[in-house]
Amino acid sequence: MTRTGYVFHEKYMWHNTGQGALFLPAGGFVQPDIVHGESSDSKRRIDGLISVSGLKPHLTILEEFAELTHDQLALFHTPEYLTRIKTMSDEGGGNAGELTPFGPGSYEIAALSAAAPLVAGRAILKGELDNAYVLNRPPGHHAEADIGRGFCIFANGVLAAMNLRKEFGDLRIAILDWDVHHGNGAQKAFYDDPSTLVISMHQYQNYPQDSGFVEEIGEGAGRGYNLNIPLPPGSGHGAYLHAMDTVVAPAIDAFRPDMIFVLSGFDAGATDPLGRNMAHSGTYREMTGQVMRLADAHCGGKLLVMHEGGYSPAYTPFCGIAVLETLCGRASGVEDPFLPVVSNFGMQELQPHQADMIARSAEIVRLIGA
Ligand code: ZN
Repeated sequence: MTRTGYVFHEKYMWHNTGQGALFLPAGGFVQPDIVHGESSDSKRRIDGLISVSGLKPHLTILEEFAELTHDQLALFHTPEYLTRIKTMSDEGGGNAGELTPFGPGSYEIAALSAAAPLVAGRAILKGELDNAYVLNRPPGHHAEADIGRGFCIFANGVLAAMNLRKEFGDLRIAILDWDVHHGNGAQKAFYDDPSTLVISMHQYQNYPQDSGFVEEIGEGAGRGYNLNIPLPPGSGHGAYLHAMDTVVAPAIDAFRPDMIFVLSGFDAGATDPLGRNMAHSGTYREMTGQVMRLADAHCGGKLLVMHEGGYSPAYTPFCGIAVLETLCGRASGVEDPFLPVVSNFGMQELQPHQADMIARSAEIVRLIGA
């Protein structure tokens, strides 16, 4: 029986990103929207479906945990950045840097969001859980040491890796980011670190536009341990599974991690307003199964999945429950009602130009351990 942890917290829903339109602030010719693109709805509805599906009693709910402390946050973020965010948060809100608006109290909410993967990761490493899904907010994978970017205030995954190493000693961690946007935060944090394999599969040149190229392979001792898989817009089920088979799986096999993190964005989904790829719930289900097999092969199944993007509130719940069902090995009975439509979008199968682009990333894998 798989013991799957789950984290969701009402406070995450109180992080207020204001009334910008999609990713832009309102003003000029941009009319204020009802909610910003990164709103609570796309997460609350995942938790809602998990509740009504009857899956929740089969998950181990982690609750009653503390925010990350200043010292825990400062393992990655600069003291100046932490002070700046805290001051703005206390004074009613502001912007953490680039496209990252927040309201009152978001310092504490972001510190609670960053605590979730640490709490779940700790339980996995202690053997109390096999795997976990952390449905936290604000997301983390674009945040850098001294600037918030792309809706992310604190670097949840990077902080979990650094704090788990402080508590448990050296750990070889493979980080797989399947959000449709590039995982620039982990890339920057671990660029010269051969004990962290950072893999990001994302839409080519979506966000941030200045990073995520296949040529960014790490430096110094970390050369070969940063693996970008930029995908052409329009990449669907076939392209994602081909990238998993020909790049992600051989890379993780070569790296032999002690633990695997997945930074899980559902914005690679076919209906997402901020991405142009075409994954669906079946894609996320199969990718989760594959990463579980890799975790079983190398690290006793130790797999920590944390939430990142996903901005189609109607569709994210069906991707989310597909991942949760796979993690805990139990069918909820929920069928994805969108699947008959989105799985039949044209060119869902692997296209030659997608295979060519993925092959360039596959060439980098031989550098691991070389
Ligand atoms: Zn994203």
